Amino acid sequence: MKNQGFKDKQIILKQLFMLFDRFSEEMERACEEGCAACCTRNVTLTSLEAKHILDGLNSDEKDFVSNRVANEHHKNRLIPKTTINELAKICMNGEEPPEEFGDPLWGECPLLSNQRCMIYDLRPLACRVMISKKRCNVTGFAEIDEYMVTLSNLFMQYLEHVDNGGYFGNLSDILLLEADNKKYGLANLSENLLVNKPIEMLMVPPEHREKIAKIINAIQKI
Ligand code: SF4
Repeated sequence: MKNQGFKDKQIILKQLFMLFDRFSEEMERACEEGCAACCTRNVTLTSLEAKHILDGLNSDEKDFVSNRVANEHHKNRLIPKTTINELAKICMNGEEPPEEFGDPLWGECPLLSNQRCMIYDLRPLACRVMISKKRCNVTGFAEIDEYMVTLSNLFMQYLEHVDNGGYFGNLSDILLLEADNKKYGLANLSENLLVNKPIEMLMVPPEHREKIAKIINAIQKI
């Protein structure tokens, strides 16, 4: 992948989403419309994805979504301590990653309405990769296949790489920052954000390397 301008990045983002859908199609999944147990306040995304969401809404929808997020902004949410490419580097160096804390009991994602996502077609990668083998609203947690975790990490790493120099953080913080920081009177949003980094090492365990090779090849052709 070469250096890209913002428009190119948006195109790459859509292609990454399409590739992810293609390569995750075969995965066993219990997820279905109306099951939203994984839609918590702990969803994270890149600034590129936040711009993609906002660009996909008309001005009334944008105001509605932003106001809704702003109204719930004071509530607890996961504030990530590392990006996925930083995490890969920490693992590569044999260091201990910082503990992330996001309690699902803090509540629903502000973009969930009547158990449905208000921006479903525009939702970030972190939501797309939540493919559970069992119904989360029955078990109380998502049961994610180990290969699915590797596949998710791979796409997350490439997405961060594409948005290198952009930001990563909680959906509530990044969406409002991109919508209009000043309009919502939230001057300190950027304090909760991390800067995206390029890939230094991919987190692919030996048992998945053969299967993942063709996917890496497809991503690198974008
Ligand atoms: S953005 Fe949509 S899919 Fe993602 S957690 Fe929120 S409501 Fe669920």
